[in-house]
Amino acid sequence: MPEMREPIESGCPDPWQYMHPVMRKNFGMWKYHEHPRVGVLRHVAYSGDEVWTVKVGTQRILDVFTLRKLCDIGDRYADGFVHFTLRSNLEYVVDDAAKVEPLIKAVEDAGFIVGGTQNSVTMISHTQGWLHCDIPGTDASGVVKSMMDELIDEFKTATMPNRVHITTSCCQINCGGQGDIAINVQHTKPPKINHDLVANVCERPSVVARCPVAAIRPAMVNGKPSLEVDERKCICCGACFPPCPPMQINDAEHSKLAIWVGGNHSNARGKPTFQKLVAAGIPNNPPRWPEATAIVKRILNAYKEGARDWERVNEWIERIGWPRFFEEVELPFTKYHIDTWRGARASFNASNYIRF
Ligand code: SF4
Ligand code: SF4
Repeated sequence: MPEMREPIESGCPDPWQYMHPVMRKNFGMWKYHEHPRVGVLRHVAYSGDEVWTVKVGTQRILDVFTLRKLCDIGDRYADGFVHFTLRSNLEYVVDDAAKVEPLIKAVEDAGFIVGGTQNSVTMISHTQGWLHCDIPGTDASGVVKSMMDELIDEFKTATMPNRVHITTSCCQINCGGQGDIAINVQHTKPPKINHDLVANVCERPSVVARCPVAAIRPAMVNGKPSLEVDERKCICCGACFPPCPPMQINDAEHSKLAIWVGGNHSNARGKPTFQKLVAAGIPNNPPRWPEATAIVKRILNAYKEGARDWERVNEWIERIGWPRFFEEVELPFTKYHIDTWRGARASFNASNYIRF
């Protein structure tokens, strides 16, 4: 019996072993790349070698049968080399232009789509959601699937002024989305406390310490140690729910979606920017989330019509100004769009690189 490999518990595996041999050979020695069609990139090395990358959209959460199907296509048409991108797209790499068209045909015949490069709307990224996390307030992967169904033509064509990154996030506090357009969950009511469970389930001091506005206090309820929330202070962030599930904040009616725009990590032409809230209180309405999708499409259409070539969403808004942006996308500007929190002075960050 062969000896089992010891598991490696931290870090990602060495990518070198998975690279196409032509990429390994020319590592750091690439001369230029071009974009022959949507979904395909051609990289040329100083040595004259070439690799062609074909980007394929998936349904985002992949079952093992679909994965096998995609890997079989890779074995048959793409030298056996596949990469997954951060947004669960798949990239096949081949070293010969003649292999590109048969590969695209095999992918499309199997029901997948090719695109997502250059100035397209690439696959929406989402946080892990129900699959791996215990605190989601919505099904982020469901939001992604239903929105991408409607934006499929924008994935397959490259007609946006610049690339558009859309993200979704299923709680307000953790691995949340920052993108050109972000759809994030928004709790609108303080948590309801199940006092019978608090003493058994929660470490009360750590729950008290979690609250960013000091709204939680220890309390005795029905003779048992529990917690209480000062609802005038609570900002409905949901931070107390992960360490103490009896602080139930998810709610079918009062957990909503909010849409933010203009986030950009890149500092290519200007400083990185934080996204800003533009629509709040949108119904969290599975299985197709039509209200949120309609707003995202309005924003995309206005950006496509109004932005100059190569302007990202934040640069477009910076040029036309926020009042005009709200007019163009037909969203109401309300008092809730202004940050009036009295502690905000300490949280005004100047760049994306520092967070408190
Ligand atoms: S965004 Fe929040 S709920 Fe969603 S996976 Fe991340 S930590 Fe969990
Ligand atoms: S939801 Fe946030 S602000 Fe409200 S009690 Fe919990 S941690 Fe504090």
